[in-house]
Amino acid sequence: MPSCVLTDSGALPLGSRFMPDTVTMDKIVSLSRRRGFVFPSSEIYGGLGSTYDYGHYGVLVKNNIRSRWLEAMVYERDDIVLIDSAIILHPRVWEASGHVEGFTDPLVDCRTCKLRFREDKLEDSQCGRKPSKRPGETPDCDLTEARRFNLMFQTHVGPVEDSASAAFLRPETAQGIFINFKNVLQLARRRPPFGIAQVGKSFRNEITPGNFLFRVREFEQMEMEFFVPPAEAEEWYRYWVDARHDWYLKYGLRRSRLRVREHGPEERSHYSQATSDIEYDYPIGWQELEGVANRGDYDLSRHTEFSGTELEYVGPEGAERYVPYVIEPAVSIERIFVAMLVDAYDEEEVAERQRTVLRLHPAIAPVKAAVLPLIAKDSGMVEKARALHEELRGSQVVEYDESGAIGRRYRRQDEIGTPFAFTVDEQTLEDDTVTIRERDSLAQERLSICQVASRLADMLRKPWTTPKSD
Ligand code: ATP
Repeated sequence: MPSCVLTDSGALPLGSRFMPDTVTMDKIVSLSRRRGFVFPSSEIYGGLGSTYDYGHYGVLVKNNIRSRWLEAMVYERDDIVLIDSAIILHPRVWEASGHVEGFTDPLVDCRTCKLRFREDKLEDSQCGRKPSKRPGETPDCDLTEARRFNLMFQTHVGPVEDSASAAFLRPETAQGIFINFKNVLQLARRRPPFGIAQVGKSFRNEITPGNFLFRVREFEQMEMEFFVPPAEAEEWYRYWVDARHDWYLKYGLRRSRLRVREHGPEERSHYSQATSDIEYDYPIGWQELEGVANRGDYDLSRHTEFSGTELEYVGPEGAERYVPYVIEPAVSIERIFVAMLVDAYDEEEVAERQRTVLRLHPAIAPVKAAVLPLIAKDSGMVEKARALHEELRGSQVVEYDESGAIGRRYRRQDEIGTPFAFTVDEQTLEDDTVTIRERDSLAQERLSICQVASRLADMLRKPWTTPKSD
């Protein structure tokens, strides 16, 4: 089989120059918008602050993140089952969980600039006056005393808007799992240690949403509650911190940009026996990507108390009886989405031209391969390229593109992170070979058209590590 290394446009030397890591949140926002990953929501009405809609590629990436999570948490194990609970639950659920009373942030208003801030995040906030400073930093800042602000969105169920009809949009998916504990125990015939996983929208009326998708009011959570005998809680807690950390490495995040930070006793929630944040070094600094908590028996005990239904594990013949402890890894797709885009974003110079490339893990990349006829006017090339595209799209998300110069088409694919491109050219018409171009190394090689499908499947299965340096 012919095999040769070509260059990006057929004429460029391979030596490309990595630029220093210059990624900023603005660059991520601008790329996301330019390439149709994410747009500001309700734009034709002037937008709704910190609310976003996902375009085609954004949806594909989100689907991939969700699928990889489900594989690791459910499909590749036999001790975790799924649930999909309602978004609006009985209001008593939120009393039992402590959210009505305690799911609050300290809110301060600035009488001068009229903005609102979280008192505990003043360090990370900017006041409304230019040049912007930290709230409270200048004598002009006139901050009120902090007051507690409940983050739950309230609504009403049914046509009457009175206090009896008040309900909440869930601020986390976890409670939908706890209230179904008994169903799963009985109907899925489980015994601890076992887990229940849920993926779905959660809503928080954040005081200061922002930093793109990092903090939004509507987000998709992926949570798993792992029920264990109390004596095994510590061991399982450590296990899940490690397992979740390794999942990020597996999907390409750089080790140097990830760390585990264990909360001190003063930082932990009232229910938590131990909590660790898996943090990522976002352009805004180290921030929580995912939380892993040992919630003890708090949730099951509280729901037992408030509902009157015993939520406990009773062994065969009633010999054993206890309220399991719960270990919870909880994350949103949004925070993973931003971390993966930030980690993947790269600018480099190739033959004195700059290219922007998303070096996404192939399992996360929205499109796995592009099929490109070198000359769009050549009906022979178009026919072959379309046939190859038809063949590949049965098993992968692949894209056919014939518009514009080949270099521009490669750049478009680079920007959305497509790991491979197959180009049909003159030689294809003679010997049925195509070039395969690799996104990261820019290496090109020829291979027979009939081998493309299996080669692509092989390449997508292989472990992948980012070529970006730390
Ligand atoms: P933070 O301190 O950043 O507000 P949190 O500790 O309140 O986060 P948790 O209640 O532990 O967050 O929620 C679990 C996970 O849900 C977080 O680790 C994060 O991945 C995600 N998450 C929470 N709030 C938001 C939000 N407003 N936007 C996007 N993702 C969120």
